[in-house]
Amino acid sequence: MTILELAKQTGVTIGSLQEIVLNVGEKVDSEFDPISIDVAELVAMEVGFNVRRLHSDEGAQLKTRPAVVTVMGHVDHGKTSLLDALRQTSVAAKEAGGITQHLGAFVVGMSSGASLTFLDTPGHAAFSAMRARGAAVTDIVVLVVAADDGVMPQTLEAMNHAKVANVPIVVAINKCDKPGADPERVRIQLGSEGLLLEDLGGDVQVVEVSAIKKSGLDRLEEALLLQAEMMDLKARVDGTAQAYVVEARLDRGRGPLATAIVKSGTLLSGQHIVVGAEWGRIRAIRNMVGKVIESAGPAIPVEIEGLKGLPMAGDDVVVVDSEERARMLSNGRKKKLEKDRLHKASEERAESPDTSE
Ligand code: GDP
Ligand code: MG
Repeated sequence: MTILELAKQTGVTIGSLQEIVLNVGEKVDSEFDPISIDVAELVAMEVGFNVRRLHSDEGAQLKTRPAVVTVMGHVDHGKTSLLDALRQTSVAAKEAGGITQHLGAFVVGMSSGASLTFLDTPGHAAFSAMRARGAAVTDIVVLVVAADDGVMPQTLEAMNHAKVANVPIVVAINKCDKPGADPERVRIQLGSEGLLLEDLGGDVQVVEVSAIKKSGLDRLEEALLLQAEMMDLKARVDGTAQAYVVEARLDRGRGPLATAIVKSGTLLSGQHIVVGAEWGRIRAIRNMVGKVIESAGPAIPVEIEGLKGLPMAGDDVVVVDSEERARMLSNGRKKKLEKDRLHKASEERAESPDTSE
């Protein structure tokens, strides 16, 4: 990208853009000289633009990647129980004698060698919040419906979220062990809500499960794998990583920790990163059993240690060349956030002029 191109895209004069570039400490000789993506982002932010980095995978070698799955459904229908049960089916969990740490996501490996990545936070709010921030991490939604309770308001809400986001659904009719279970009724209800179930000639798979009895889990995993296969999910493995934060927390000893899922490319330990408005250098990458690994490829959930501050779910992870770049970009993004916040506050004041101080 050049200053000239940036001027065309933002409608800001070349002169002012050059001045901003100088202000962020970069050299510009001519508007035709290429500027780095980091500087371009900073300059664009200065003039009030939000930049989304579009990583081109053109020409790159793409490999099949695991599907990323989110569990949604009405409260008490068994989302947490189902995730717990699925987590226990993971090979890593078996080998490690249970997953000790909470990572916000886990991988279930099948004997066929295929695997599925589950986001560990059920819920519609997280799903929508991440979508709203441009983080389209989820490939498939598992819609959990309790067989004794049937379709409820949040079932419909979840269906709607998935539909709006264009994410396919696999239905898990849960609590099939209960005496009052009526999976047939659930099928009819879902059908009448417009879900095109497989049994009725549609393509939405339905699996009967019991999270408590741990039955039907293998069939659910097979259904998810089949769905993933139909979607032909692929990602670039080589080159700079692009990742999204799914959860972040502060550890007393280790500082800010972010669980991220790599979308494409490979994340390497030691890299300088900007995560949302925070920055740092990757001190350690850990996998879901807490083992330190050197790199992570697509759809693998990892815990990143080495950030200076706490990012938010949905933040993007951007790899940059140096600590200086990382600091600079983080500062720019923080300023932009603050500007947006002030702008929003003043707009709200303008909208309600008669509210007293
Ligand atoms: P969530 O609100 O969707 O996360 O639901 P939970 O996983 O917390 O489950 C709500 C309640 O339903 C808990 O008391 C669970 O023990 C119970 N439950 C979940 N799955 C099953 C199941 O397959 N069978 C039976 N009988 N109870 C279940
Ligand atoms: Mg729950």
